[in-house]
Order: sequence, then structure tokens, then C-alpha cells
Amino acid sequence: MSEDCVILGAGLTGLGAASVTPTAIIYDQHDGPGGHVRSHEFGGVHFDEGAHICHAKDPAWREQLTRHAGRIVEVSQSRVASYWHGHWLTYPVQNHLRDLPKPERSRALEELLAAQKANANCRPANYAEWVRYQYGDFLAENFYRAYTNKYWRTPMEAMDTDWLSGRLLPAQLETIIRGAHAQQDEKQSVFSSFLYPEKGGFFAFFSPFARGVEIRTGARLVDLDLQEKRLRFADGRTVGYERLISTIPLPDLVAATRSAPASIASSARALRHTQLLCVNMIVDRPHLSPYHWFYIYDEEFEVSRVKVMSNVTPEGCPANTTVLQTEIFRRDDEMLDAKALEKSAVEEMGRLLDLTPFAMCA
Ligand SMILES: Cc1cc2nc3c(=O)[nH]c(=O)nc-3n(C[C@H](O)[C@H](O)[C@H](O)COP(=O)(O)OP(=O)(O)OC[C@H]3O[C@@H](n4cnc5c(N)ncnc54)[C@H](O)[C@@H]3O)c2cc1C
Repeated sequence: MSEDCVILGAGLTGLGAASVTPTAIIYDQHDGPGGHVRSHEFGGVHFDEGAHICHAKDPAWREQLTRHAGRIVEVSQSRVASYWHGHWLTYPVQNHLRDLPKPERSRALEELLAAQKANANCRPANYAEWVRYQYGDFLAENFYRAYTNKYWRTPMEAMDTDWLSGRLLPAQLETIIRGAHAQQDEKQSVFSSFLYPEKGGFFAFFSPFARGVEIRTGARLVDLDLQEKRLRFADGRTVGYERLISTIPLPDLVAATRSAPASIASSARALRHTQLLCVNMIVDRPHLSPYHWFYIYDEEFEVSRVKVMSNVTPEGCPANTTVLQTEIFRRDDEMLDAKALEKSAVEEMGRLLDLTPFAMCA
């Protein structure tokens, strides 16, 4: 059997490719579409695979996304915090230095201004240098390095800067100086406003895109023969193709490709990624945190980021509860002990949100 067009992967990229390729058939290893934007229901709440929100600004795309997603929560000023050694600071810290204790505030501001002056014409060779040139040593070490160690699990010196666009913002001195002296709304960060489906989780935005698309599930690619134009899946299914679009991770694609040159195979094996453990909690007490989500910088905490679902979508959560999604990251070459980390996440949230005794049902 041979298909005109096969798409590997039914995540957003695969569904997007299918929307402009009417004859395409998608094969995916999972039991349904969505990839990283899948949501699942537990205890009456739809949880995502890690904190997802829509911060798209393009009106046409927003219209397309929300048209069939039911009622939408539209937040015009997100409440996002950084937890750092007992202090709750507005995110991102450099724009809200006023929240730091006075000695740290002065040091952070002085070092940031000095770094801007000294490095105005320097080209950073890696992420560590970019952060130091932008924000100075105090913020670089206490915030950016600490969080990188927890989230990306890779030394900043080993990371490039080409991924930063839209994620981290170059220092705006006027905003930083203002924020060192007075409280200000956060307007600079990419997610200062956002959309989220009231019910159904983030995937409610995307499930309409899967309607009418032929998706063959439970199909994990194990062999790709580029000469014969043939794919084989782990369950023994085979399929031929005229055109092939791959949206699966590169290491998986290259590992399955028979004729991949040795240099490409070894480069693909050297690619690293992170694995994410989400520990979701439904706590039978309301309003435990005022934020939509917050970041934890202290390296003694396993949890890196917490989304407070009951603040993002109160309608999608049981009444009188606080619903939390905590995230813990490990690199793919590190061990992830889910049971031990789950225990740490529960204990850490109990400590951070002052919950004693801790009453949890999920
Ligand atoms: C923690 C986290 C938070 C995020 N937050 C946001 C956010 O707030 N807003 C936002 O817009 N984006 C966010 N993103 C990014 C967003 O999730 C991704 O950009 C998007 O889901 C990528 O889609 P994709 O189709 O390229 O890849 P994927 O979603 O990874 O899809 C790949 C598909 O390929 C399948 N597959 C893999 N290997 C094989 C194989 N061997 N055989 C067959 N099938 C295979 C998988 O099952 C999967 O369905 C976040 C991502 C993460 C991880």
C-alpha cells in the first residue's frame, strides 16, 4: 500500500501540515492527536502537559483559535511571580527590582548598569555572556543561572542564544530604573496578556484542527527506508509514501532512517532534551496563591514552575479548591525518579503555601 502523503506526528506541527495537505494521512505513536498540547481530565480538571497559555498577538490567528474553543478566559494583565529565598517578586525580576530587599536591590541595579556600560559593543559568545551583558552578575548568578540549572539542566556556557527571541527580553533601562523605585505593571514580557479555554484545557484550542484529519494512532516509527519510500512501525504495520513530512523529534527520525550517514547519526545522538514531570494537585482550600503562575529560583526546591489553574480558569476547577500544576525537569541523560519527586513536590508546595496539615486529593 502506498499513500500520496504521510505526515509523521500529530502534534501542532503535524496538524498544521495536514491542514494544507488535504490528502495527507498522519501516523503518531500516541493514542490521539496533540503531542505536547494534549490535555487530560483528572478530578474534574483538565491538566496540560506543563504550563501552556496562548500569548499570540495576531488577531486573525486568535480568531481562528478561539472560534470553536467554547468560552475563553482573556487575561489582560497576567500575575506572574518569582519566588526567591523567602521573597515573592514580580516577574521578570529586572523590571521590578523594588521587590528585592534594599541591599540586593542596590547591588543588582549597580551591577546591571555597569554591565550595560562595559559590554555595550560586545557580542556574547553564549547564553551565560548574554545574560551577564544584559543584566549584570548579581541577577545573572542568582536568577538566570539558578533557573537554567533547574529548567534546562545545562550550564549556561554550553547554550547558544538563538532560542532567546520572544522568550527573554533585552534590558530596557528606563523600565528597569523605574521598577527599582516604584511598582509598575509588567508590560514587557511576552505573556503579560493571554488567552486560555475556560474548559477542556489548552487542547480545547486545537481539537477542532484534528477534526476530519485521518490520524492512525499507536504507530511508532522504527524504520524509514528512503530508497524504497517505505515506513515501518513498532507494531509491524508498513506503509509506502510518495511524499513524507516528518514532525517527530530529530533523534527519533534519524535513528529510524536506515541510510542516515554516520556523521548525521552521531550528531543526532548528541542532541539533548529535557524530560518533564508534572505533579498536579487539587487542594481543598481556596485562594492559596494570588498568581496565575510562579517560578521558583531556589535550587534546593525540585519544582521549577507552578501554574495555579484555579486562578487561570476558576470555571474549569472545583469550587473552594486551589488547583496547582507543578513542573520538575530532568535532562534526558539524567534519572527521573517520579515517586520521589512527586513526594518532594507535595512537600514543597505545603511549605511554600503554608499548608499544615496538607490536604490533597490528587
Ligand atoms: C512545558 C512546556 C510548556 C509550553 N508552553 C507553551 C505555551 O505556553 N504556549 C505555546 O504556544 N507553546 C508552549 N509550548 C510549546 C508547544 O507545546 C510546542 O511548540 C508544540 O506543542 C510543538 O508541537 P510539535 O507538533 O512540533 O511537536 P510535538 O507536540 O512534540 O509533536 C510531535 C508528535 O510526534 C509524535 N512522535 C514522536 N516520536 C514518534 C515516533 N517515533 N513515531 C511516531 N510518532 C512520534 C509524538 O507522539 C507527538 O504527537 C510549551 C512546551 C512545553 C514542553
